[in-house]
Amino acid sequence: MNVPFLDLKIQYQSLRDEINAALQEVMDHTAFAGGKYVERFEQSFASFCGTGHAVGVGNGTEALWVALIGLGVKPGDEVITVPNTFIATTEAISFSGATPVFVDVNEDTYNMDPDLLEAAITPKTKAIIPVHLYGQMADMGPIMEIARAHGLSVIEDASQAHGAEYKGKPAGSIGDAGCFSFYPGKNLGAYGEAGAVVTSNDDLAAKMRMFRDHGQAKKYYHDMVGWNARMDGFQGAVLDVKLKHLPAWTEGRRKNAALYNWQLTGIEGISTPVEAAYGKHVYHIYAIRTADSDGMMQALREQGIASGMHYPVPLHLQKAYQFMGHREGDFPVAEKCAAEQLSLPMYAELTEEQIAAVASAVKGYLA
Ligand SMILES: *Cc1c(COP(=O)(O)O)cnc(C)c1O
Repeated sequence: MNVPFLDLKIQYQSLRDEINAALQEVMDHTAFAGGKYVERFEQSFASFCGTGHAVGVGNGTEALWVALIGLGVKPGDEVITVPNTFIATTEAISFSGATPVFVDVNEDTYNMDPDLLEAAITPKTKAIIPVHLYGQMADMGPIMEIARAHGLSVIEDASQAHGAEYKGKPAGSIGDAGCFSFYPGKNLGAYGEAGAVVTSNDDLAAKMRMFRDHGQAKKYYHDMVGWNARMDGFQGAVLDVKLKHLPAWTEGRRKNAALYNWQLTGIEGISTPVEAAYGKHVYHIYAIRTADSDGMMQALREQGIASGMHYPVPLHLQKAYQFMGHREGDFPVAEKCAAEQLSLPMYAELTEEQIAAVASAVKGYLA
């Protein structure tokens, strides 16, 4: 049985008429760059996240960068994050002129370990970026407490966690700002590139809106040196249609994760994802751990089953960050996870038969 890692076509087929009509409307109104379809989505998404504002931007990497700029992070500052994330998190830090500082993660949730946070804070620290990896939120309670005690800003990297919750609070609503990617493969995916920053801070929202539009206070009057970081109209229209379906897709992902768990939890040689009692996991990625993840990936591939590795090399060991002088062993939990993790196919439309085929291939490889 053929099981792709992700299938964007089935989802499009189920929404075809709605999406096509929404795109046609954008063309009829020639609302291509920013404009009313982006504004409409911003309002729906802010309300989905329980925040006062959503600021649409070009992609998730830009969302992080715009939030850092908006919060006043500048050259010479330090920003604390984790080594087991997509490089966009630290690219945004680097391009704000600041230096990323890593702390290791909790071995159950793969998220920032709050017990290690305080030791990483220096007089230069300006902000903390917890990443809600794979769709599960970091332990925000202690992270916020430490941040407030030290006067630090918190930016949630919620690029993998649309609709996830921490003690009933939506992802993006707890920190000073929450950043989302709408890359096509994310839980809420555009038909192209898009991202957003959510916040309930009116001044921050106003500053980010100005920055993303060339620092304009009004047309051709520039109060600051900004950038072109606008979301395009087609993406706003598509995302507004898709947001209405996101809760159902999230339930589909959670049901599929439960089916995987039911067939794989307790099998010797692998461990399945741990859902922390504090929150709701939205399973952007369903990653298991096994000693020989390369071998298992190859065996699954031979049976027509795709899988992935998120992420094979932690950021502190990437060539791009070699100048920081880190070495193997600096962040042992992140390194161990990188070596052992294998992401199984995960999307709402996966069938029970496909999940059974994946689970049986995993068990077959171990046996
Ligand atoms: C996808 C992702 C990003 C970057 O988003 P883009 O839209 O691809 O720029 C940032 N952080 C994390 C954790 C991501 O998964």
